Amino acid sequence: MTLNLRAPGLIVANYGRHFLVETDQGERLICHSRGKKSQGVVGDRVLWLASQDEGTIEKIEPRRNLFYRQDDVRTKTFAANLDQVLILLAAEPEFSSGQLSRALIAAEEQHITPLIALNKSDLTVPFARAWEWLLPYRNMGYDVIPLSLKDEAPSRQTLTQRLAGKTTLVLGPSGAGKSTLINCLIPGALVQTGVLSQALNSGKHTTTSTTWYWVDVEKTTALIDSPGFQEFGLNHIDPAQLAAYMPDLKPHVKNCKFYNCSHLHEPGCGVISAVKSSDSADEISVNRYKIYSDLYAELKGMRRY
Ligand code: GDP
Ligand code: ZN
Repeated sequence: MTLNLRAPGLIVANYGRHFLVETDQGERLICHSRGKKSQGVVGDRVLWLASQDEGTIEKIEPRRNLFYRQDDVRTKTFAANLDQVLILLAAEPEFSSGQLSRALIAAEEQHITPLIALNKSDLTVPFARAWEWLLPYRNMGYDVIPLSLKDEAPSRQTLTQRLAGKTTLVLGPSGAGKSTLINCLIPGALVQTGVLSQALNSGKHTTTSTTWYWVDVEKTTALIDSPGFQEFGLNHIDPAQLAAYMPDLKPHVKNCKFYNCSHLHEPGCGVISAVKSSDSADEISVNRYKIYSDLYAELKGMRRY
């Protein structure tokens, strides 16, 4: 590598202020960000500059989209330039509709296509229940595919087709089969990541980093693995826009009497009347409306500070 020449690369892992950058030649090197703030995220195209044994990230190219995560108070960014979000659920353990809806809203807000996969189809009885339970989401137009990652071959084929040529962020509650999925598509990937994250964290063991994996040798298909399903950052969302990111609520907004209707208590609200209607095919379930109103209150509350 030539000194003082800015070269293009891709951030493939991030540990605090350290980044693992893959060059266009396929080499990987450790870079740090310029200045105190760590601004890059996995999936960022960057220009980096070699300096002694490490590199410095000089520039982050404009992003197509950006996914957020949050701790109690702050929202942080964690992955960029995604084509798809795969939400991996399973027949067991049970998953929460609130978490699923939040992940879908986060994807909608960034114009990223969500794909829902329901794993453990071999567990016939709980699978049938969970599949039925996802019916409202299928009616909303979301793609839901059954998987049994235990019987690798057919699931691997279905998945490979759905991932081909795309960069997919994989999200899901613990126990749904995320490690199984990554191991089945990219054997040995998780072992390598563990070793790397320990090295970059000076020996500390961490499981909270976001990592990019190439699925194929041609590097046309990628998966981004990120732990933690509950920690979605939605705080940046304007509560007035929330209904627009929920496909079951959205069509009813045009029937609201007031243009700035919050859909919580206003007379002549199209959303509330769709919740109350019992016979229409496009009614809104009480459960989804509660998710909307809880999230609305939460986002409104955040804005007071
Ligand atoms: P993670 O927490 O999302 O990474 O989940 P894991 O990949 O560790 O999987 C959790 C458990 O579910 C493990 O015991 C897996 O062997 C099991 N598991 C994964 N896929 C399947 C499947 O298709 N069917 C069944 N029955 N179990 C599975
Ligand atoms: Zn309304």
